[in-house]
Amino acid sequence: MNIALIAHDKKKPEIINFTTAYGDILKKHQLYATGTTGKKIMEASGLDIVRFQSGPLGGDQQIGAKIANEEMDMVIFFRDPLTAQPHEPDITALLRLCDVHQIPVATNMAGAEIMIKALERGDINWRKNKKEMKDQV
Ligand code: PGA
Repeated sequence: MNIALIAHDKKKPEIINFTTAYGDILKKHQLYATGTTGKKIMEASGLDIVRFQSGPLGGDQQIGAKIANEEMDMVIFFRDPLTAQPHEPDITALLRLCDVHQIPVATNMAGAEIMIKALERGDINWRKNKKEMKDQV
């Protein structure tokens, strides 16, 4: 599965804790992240991550493009609901595309923990069929 990891600045400690705790599950998958989030996770956990631009410079849109191409299977996005973000339109667009393409998305630790356990159980394997259907078109 292709998994996107994003965290706003005040949530970066949380995503580092999360990815360290669930590293054994995450390392079986292809991981993507916005620039700074990816750098910090790699430094803390040793996980291998493909990094896009930093979020405010277009990283959220790059992840959105992969969603639009059915190339992203899950999004873990630790949002900061208490701080205004300069790239708010990009964040809204990313979450909108998750809804358009039925991509499992968690925007906080509580949801992400449920989703990662579902991933480990195989509950999201239906995404593979979706990709195969797209490849046949
Ligand atoms: P960052 O971007 O990982 O480069 O900090 C995240 C964001 O703010 O969307």
